[in-house]
Amino acid sequence: MKVTMEVNNRYITIKTHIEGAPKESDFELKNAALALSIEAGSNDVIVKTLYVSIDPYQINRMKSYSSSRKATVAAAPINHGEAIDGYGVAKVVVSGNPEFQKDELVVGFVGWGEYKLVKGGDRLRKLDPMGFPLSNHAGIFGYGGLTAYTGFLEICKPRKGEKVFVSGASGSVGNLVGQFAKLFGCYVVGSVGNNKKVALLKEKLGFDDAFNYKEEPDLKATLRRYFPDGIDVYFDNVGGDMLEAAVANMNLFGRVAACGAISEYTNASKRASPNMLDAVYKRIKIQGFLVSDHINLYADFVSTIGDHLRNGKIQPLEDISNGVESIPSAFIGLFQGDNIGKKIVCVAED
Ligand code: NAP
Repeated sequence: MKVTMEVNNRYITIKTHIEGAPKESDFELKNAALALSIEAGSNDVIVKTLYVSIDPYQINRMKSYSSSRKATVAAAPINHGEAIDGYGVAKVVVSGNPEFQKDELVVGFVGWGEYKLVKGGDRLRKLDPMGFPLSNHAGIFGYGGLTAYTGFLEICKPRKGEKVFVSGASGSVGNLVGQFAKLFGCYVVGSVGNNKKVALLKEKLGFDDAFNYKEEPDLKATLRRYFPDGIDVYFDNVGGDMLEAAVANMNLFGRVAACGAISEYTNASKRASPNMLDAVYKRIKIQGFLVSDHINLYADFVSTIGDHLRNGKIQPLEDISNGVESIPSAFIGLFQGDNIGKKIVCVAED
């Protein structure tokens, strides 16, 4: 008689659609037996999650409606009770797919759980850690890193000596944008939500300056103070009032990379209304982008970042919590400014 092994799989689901700021009671830790076997003849793969990336965009998937839905499969809705997919590092436990062997490391869309059956092995690829910690592959070598790299180079099109402003500057994307901008020879100022983060940007990451936006009642005046000669490039992670203030302070032919609008994700009544006369007369380019548009640059990105990390020119900034049960609080913390750097949950050690 053939005996099929099974494991107890703990995973996170939402109990209901989330419209405002997420809270612990919106989430549930579920337990279910998972048979470690796959359908004969299928290309399915069962993986064990090691590290999962915790990302703000998931909140838009958890709402009853979000205008982001039509643009990309990555924004597909998450319904209550369903397992939640998310980028991360995992180990193959069982594979019917000739591309993946048992015990190999993979990266891709695993999930907010201990195990996942990945249909057809879709959106997974083999991982060569290249001597770097596995967490780096959910972090700096993952989508956050690629977003910073491609958003800054392809959308902002920076020139040496230009004045760069980045919001959300201690987060996964923002801290790297600032570090890339410094390597590029730009003048960089970051905005963050507390004074510990201000010190970190200036003392550890090499930003020229930084400020705590929560202590600044008039953001337009604040940016005028930090950029008396105006802003050439604004890398926008937050939207809202900060976008309005940045546009008011942009120079002629300034560029705004609209990467994210986290200040608007949990507050439906908040919408930036930048002065469009400024946009027209200063010929400002405001461009939204998705990291998925730039996957063709992934190999170039990995080799550049790998070199920078080896040479100590870039600091990886990670904020790691442990255990599947900590995923909800890790996610909630993104909207409260708890994380410093890339938020990752270590679900299991290799
Ligand atoms: P993150 O910055 O690591 O984490 C979120 C941070 O946002 C928090 O630590 C907090 O820092 C800040 N924040 C939270 N609520 C805020 C508010 N109301 N106003 C201002 N700041 C607030 O997240 P991330 O992964 O790097 O993502 C940054 C942005 O990029 C997000 O908007 C995300 O959706 C977007 N994104 C876009 C793409 C793309 O393809 N376009 C890809 C990845 C990420 P403070 O303490 O500074 O407030």
